[in-house]
Amino acid sequence: MPNTETPIYLYNTKTRTKGQQFVPIDAQNVRMYVCGPTVYDRAHLGNARPVIVFDVLNRLLRHVYGDKHVTYVRNFTDVDDKINAKAVATGRTIGEITDETIQWFLDDMGAVGAIEPDHMPRATAYIAPMIAMIEDLIAKGHAYAAEGHVLFSVSSYAEYGALSGRSVDDMIAGARVEIAPYKRDPMDFVLWKPSSDDQPGWDSPWGNGRPGWHIECSAMAHDLLGASFDIHGGGNDLTFPHHENEIAQSKCAGHDFANVWMHNEMLQVEGKKMSKSLGNFFTVRDLLDQGVAGEVIRFVMLSTHYRKPMDWTETKRVEAEKTLRKWNAIISQVEGEVAPSGLFMDALKDDLNTPQAITEMHRLAQGIAWNQLDILQLKASGEMLGLFQNNGLMDANVAVNRTERVDSIIESLMSSRYQLRSVKLYEKADKIRDGLISAGVEVREGKDSYTYDLLPSFDVAKLEALK
Ligand code: AMP
Ligand code: ZN
Repeated sequence: MPNTETPIYLYNTKTRTKGQQFVPIDAQNVRMYVCGPTVYDRAHLGNARPVIVFDVLNRLLRHVYGDKHVTYVRNFTDVDDKINAKAVATGRTIGEITDETIQWFLDDMGAVGAIEPDHMPRATAYIAPMIAMIEDLIAKGHAYAAEGHVLFSVSSYAEYGALSGRSVDDMIAGARVEIAPYKRDPMDFVLWKPSSDDQPGWDSPWGNGRPGWHIECSAMAHDLLGASFDIHGGGNDLTFPHHENEIAQSKCAGHDFANVWMHNEMLQVEGKKMSKSLGNFFTVRDLLDQGVAGEVIRFVMLSTHYRKPMDWTETKRVEAEKTLRKWNAIISQVEGEVAPSGLFMDALKDDLNTPQAITEMHRLAQGIAWNQLDILQLKASGEMLGLFQNNGLMDANVAVNRTERVDSIIESLMSSRYQLRSVKLYEKADKIRDGLISAGVEVREGKDSYTYDLLPSFDVAKLEALK
């Protein structure tokens, strides 16, 4: 039985609302397609954002509908002019470059804790279905061949622009269209283009050539997920033209295509767009090589909601590391399996509200009573986000010392302190606090509750002596 008590709500770019409860077409097989990378270089930090966001959604769907009842597809674009350029520049073959880059990508995304999708199709393995789809579009009057090219006729699809909310006039004014002599209309986009001898090419009814970018996703999604599926995702830089074009192709081929369209916002670095010219461009591998744990990258990413621009900062990295060291140590002291807390799950089901889910984890981690259930829920919640995959990020002092014994000593000292204060023996009460500080226990006091942390200077013998 799927665990569906609280419904999932997802913001749909197509309807511009998250008001509609997510209901899969087939709860036995929930289907998601996410646009993957073009493989010519190491993934930069921004590329990791959709991977991590949709990894969390994949985990959530599997949790709710069952591990065997979700199919997640993410492609590799391994035919692209940037790849050709790199082959020319390095004297290596396209195959060598794409194989190597794909392996890098899988290694780097594995390091940030992403589960591999069920299918990771390469565009070049789907040339035949792309050609078949293009032929079908021509036969139906939605595409035409001209000078070795095949173009999609945008005016043949009345709803063009509906996803991105742009009118065709706006798109032309935005000058994001290329004018070419073989186009009937400047808006028309390429489904197939001719290849010269030094470019990768395949035989087709239109001569030796290669696909345009957009058709691959329409063909692969259809082949692996069917004519209709539940969720289509990617970064919001893909909404137009890539996703708009995918929709036009698939709808005109007679497919229902995706129900829910989800887009993550872009990642920036220290408030600026990441770019090589600004010197703030780095890859996931750069960070890993500097000793930043993959788990820290994941945690920082999830601290911002996926539909908000996300700023990678050094301050956030340091904070994330501190938090994870503490949490890893706390959870290392419990054994057992429970479900994540209800508040945590509610946050996640509310359009993947990961910052809210993390707030709930902070609450669990600060439970004054230090009860076993809170800690187990913290552990289960972190695992749901793909955290706590044991990468050595642990505050050793906390791990060794934060035992039930330490907890009960602190609790009895604190309750003496409260009693002394209630009879106005402030000096004696403060002595207890000072003793705790000198033993390396940092106590944060609220009106009638407290939380504590063990500092690196924590000394269990000093604490015992306070009793
Ligand atoms: P690409 O290889 O450029 O097609 O990008 C692969 C994926 O990364 C796509 O889903 C993009 O939308 C996404 N992406 C690229 N740059 C960023 C960024 N700065 N922040 C977040 N996502 C990005
Ligand atoms: Zn795509």
